Order: sequence, then C-alpha cells, then structure tokens
Amino acid sequence: MAFNLEKLLRPHISSIKPYSSARDEYSGKAGIFLDANENPFGSMAKGNHNRYPDPYQLDIKEKLSKVKQIPANQIFLGNGSDEAIDLLMRAFCTPSVDNIIILPPTYGMYEVSAGINDILIKRVNLTEDFQLKPKEILAEVDEKTKLVFICSPNNPSGNKLNRADIYHILNQFDGIVVVDEAYIDFSDEPSFIQDLKNYPNLLVMQTFSKAWGLASLRIGMAFASVEIIKILNLIKPPYNISGLTQEKVLEALDNVKDIKQIVNDILSERHYLEQEIIKSPFVSHVFPSHANFILIKATEARKIYEFLIEQTIIIRDRSKVTLCADCLRISVGTRTENKAFLQALNQYQA
Ligand SMILES: *Cc1c(COP(=O)(O)O)cnc(C)c1O
Repeated sequence: MAFNLEKLLRPHISSIKPYSSARDEYSGKAGIFLDANENPFGSMAKGNHNRYPDPYQLDIKEKLSKVKQIPANQIFLGNGSDEAIDLLMRAFCTPSVDNIIILPPTYGMYEVSAGINDILIKRVNLTEDFQLKPKEILAEVDEKTKLVFICSPNNPSGNKLNRADIYHILNQFDGIVVVDEAYIDFSDEPSFIQDLKNYPNLLVMQTFSKAWGLASLRIGMAFASVEIIKILNLIKPPYNISGLTQEKVLEALDNVKDIKQIVNDILSERHYLEQEIIKSPFVSHVFPSHANFILIKATEARKIYEFLIEQTIIIRDRSKVTLCADCLRISVGTRTENKAFLQALNQYQA
C-alpha cells in the first residue's frame, strides 16, 4: 500500500470541469471590465464593492506564503476552516460508502460536516489524559477510510497531542491526515506545515479566527501538497472569500509583527485564570492548556454553568462530551472579563 491521491479521490471529481468565472479568464488588473455583469457606477453602500473579488486570493497567499514559509500554491483559503472540512469530505468521501475517523473529545464540526454529507464516522476516543491511541486508530482503518481528523492543540481539552503519535499515523495511513492547528499560535509546538514536504498525505488547517482576532470575517487556511490544493480549488464556490474579507486580511498580514504581543497577553491572562480558578472549592482540576481556553473539572458543572448564565457570563458546558464528565470550557477573556467571571464563580453556592 502507498498513498495514491488519484485513487483516494471520488472518481467523478477527476472529470469535473471547474466553473470558469470572468475573473478566471482575464485576471489582469487594468482595463475596461465589461465581462462580469457588474454595476459599473459603484455600490449602494459606502466603499467600492461592485467588482467580483479575486477567486484565488493571490495577494493574500503571496503574503501568507512568507509568513508561513510555504509556497503560495500549497495554500487554500476557505470561508472559515469549516469550508475546508466540508470540501475535503465532498472531494474524498462517497456518501454512505466511505468513512472518516474522528478522535473524541474533539471539535464538533468534523462530525456535523460528515453527517450533512452522509459519511460514516468511526470514533476512537483519546486516552484519559487526552492523547492519541495510534494503534487503535490504525486498527479502525479499512479500505473505505479516507480521512483522519487530528486536532492539536485539541478542542475542548486544550492540550497538544504527542508529535511522535501523529508521525506514526502519517507513516501508516494511506488516506489524508488532517491536522487541525486552530490553536497553534498559543502553543510552543512547531506547526506541521514544515512536514508537508515529507508527507503527501498531510493537510494542515489553521484559522484567522483565533490568534488573529478575525473570527467575524470567516476565513480559514489549509496547507497541503499542490495536488490536494488543486482539488480544493476545483470544487470550491468560485468567490468563496469576499472582497471585504480579503482587504481586511491583507491589512492583518501587514501587522503580523503584533501578533506575538497579543498572544503573550492572552497567555498571561490564561495563566492568571488557571491560578485563580483552582482556588474555587467547586473546581477539582484544571487541565493543562496550549490554547486560548481552559478546561476544568467541577462539581455540579451544569449548575455552575446555569448560575453563571444568570449573571450573563457565558462559558461552555462540556459535561456531556466524551471523557469530559463534569467539565466546563472557559475562553480566556480580558482581565476585566476574567475577574468578573471569577467573582461570579466565587458567589456560587452548591
Ligand atoms: C475555532 C476552531 C476552528 C476555526 O474555525 P473557523 O471556521 O476557521 O472559524 C477550527 N478548528 C477548531 C478545532 C476550532 O476550535
């Protein structure tokens, strides 16, 4: 067995001709544009939004290529990471025939997207301390297994997964290994982007929604081989990233030097939260985090969650999630927000 992208792809996808947009056929920037049925006079809203945006977001990719040290043709941009997740399933998994492997407790969108696409899900739980079970994962692989989703640092547990285990799966699995690095900017762990040259079956996802502070824009990144990126580009909606979003992301990329400071601020707030929250008599454990949130074990997690809602402080109840009994997930806020949260928690009475 060896990785064979052509064989992995759903057969009908290879023969699809992509939608050819006006901006595909002529991508020059100067000229009189009478090709795309746009409004030549301008927009009904402030600013110039009357022209279709670049379908391949080349300006962003050029800048991002330098930031991430990867060629621009190995970058895909989606309407949130969620679009990349959905496109991967549609490209590689035949509904009600193929399957994916997910590793609970993990990010909910893998399962939702698989459900929408009618793709079978195999689950291999993480260990009690939220690490991979590589042998068990590989034992679940059959000839219909196309994708394995690995989230590191993991949501909702917050820890990073052992690198050696991920390499083991990359070496042994002939489908695509998706490493979701939504929280990588908060971790000292190097990105798996650097491993793309060695692993044609690797796809790394990151997002502008967390450390970059652009959740509202909806833009996520996928990094993979030129061949995999071509497939995602082939099946994506032509103009999946809006012009406004592209403008704002370009602006953010020019400020990339500031991200370290913001991340440091978030990490020191996380540290503060970790130190203070464990003092609560209702908190029995704070799981080690490499992300911008913490997972805690609490007595009466659901009641605490509801009590906090009454004070309009909203955290995430994860107590019904696999391996997360009695667990609550708290995003790191500003000092003011964290203090308000801790103060409210201290008012809780069993
Ligand atoms: C927040 C998050 C994302 C980001 O999703 P977007 O659609 O890019 O906002 C991806 N994966 C995980 C695990 C996340 O927690």
